Amino acid sequence: MMRTYFDDFNADFTCKNCGRYVSARTAVSGVVNRNHCPYCLHSRHVDLFEAGDRLCACKGVMAPVGLTVKRSRDKYARGLQGELMLVHRCQTCGGLSINRIAADDDSIRILESLSQCPENLLEQSQIHEIQILTNADIALVESRLYGTQVLAA
Ligand SMILES: [Zn+2]
Ligand SMILES: [Zn+2]
Repeated sequence: MMRTYFDDFNADFTCKNCGRYVSARTAVSGVVNRNHCPYCLHSRHVDLFEAGDRLCACKGVMAPVGLTVKRSRDKYARGLQGELMLVHRCQTCGGLSINRIAADDDSIRILESLSQCPENLLEQSQIHEIQILTNADIALVESRLYGTQVLAA
């Protein structure tokens, strides 16, 4: 029987990095498709189109390397108003992916990934048109993490 990606992404898993058991249930995580560990924020590189595209199914461990905001559909909107997202980089193939932050993700770890951005990430992210946040954006990140909404004037 063929498994759909929906099955795969709703399955509980054991973190490949820290070894903790992770529940994928939406009630726990607040997101529909949990794909990373809430404790260490690592995930596995499993492409959504794995079934049809074996090139993307490398299954390496993906480390949290930075933060970005999801781009607005309105190209004239200011850059940083979208949802805060976690940027992962695969430790096996170097591929980048952008993922939603879950309700129970460790916010300290998320803040750490802001200042632990690897040297060559900025260059790589530009190629993929991902705007990596820096320490200068910490107020924005904290407001997203801790729920104090800063509304643009
Ligand atoms: Zn983990
Ligand atoms: Zn990979």
